[in-house]
Amino acid sequence: MTHWIENIADELAKRDVEEHVIASGTSISGSIHIGNSCDIFIANGIGKKLREKGKKAKTIWIADDHDPLRKVPYPLPEDYDKYLGMPYSTIPCPDGCCANFVEHFEKPLLSVIDDYGIEMEAKSGFEMYQSGVYNDYIRTAFENVERIKEIFNEYRREP
Ligand SMILES: [Zn+2]
Repeated sequence: MTHWIENIADELAKRDVEEHVIASGTSISGSIHIGNSCDIFIANGIGKKLREKGKKAKTIWIADDHDPLRKVPYPLPEDYDKYLGMPYSTIPCPDGCCANFVEHFEKPLLSVIDDYGIEMEAKSGFEMYQSGVYNDYIRTAFENVERIKEIFNEYRREP
C-alpha cells in the first residue's frame, strides 16, 4: 500500500508543469507547535517525492505573519489584549529579545528545520503583501466576490 503522500505526488507528477511549487503556511499566532506546523512536514514530503520521481519541485513556507491577533495566547502578558486585531508583524516581542512578535515565535521553528531534513524556502506573508505580489490575485478576488461566495456556500452550513 502506498502512502497517501506518494499518491498526491503521483497525481501531481502527471501535470505538465515546468516546476512544482508546494506551498505551506502557518499563522504566527504564538508558539509554533507540531499541531500547527504539520503543513510543513506534508509539503516537504510531497516536494521530496516529486524530486525522487525526477520532477522539478520546491517547497515554500509562508509565515502568515500579517494576520490579526485574535486572542492573547498563553504565556503572553494579559496587557497584550491592547494588540487585539493588530497584525502579528506589528506587535512587539513579548520578551524584548527580538525585532517583533513574529521573529520571536518563528525562531524556534526555523532553527530546527535543517535537523528535521526539511528543505523549504521561508517567506513572509507581510513582505509578500508589501511587494505587491498578491495584487493581481486580490483584484481577481474582488471582481469575483459573488462567485466566491457561491463556492464557499456549497461547502458550509451558514452562508
Ligand atoms: Zn524574542
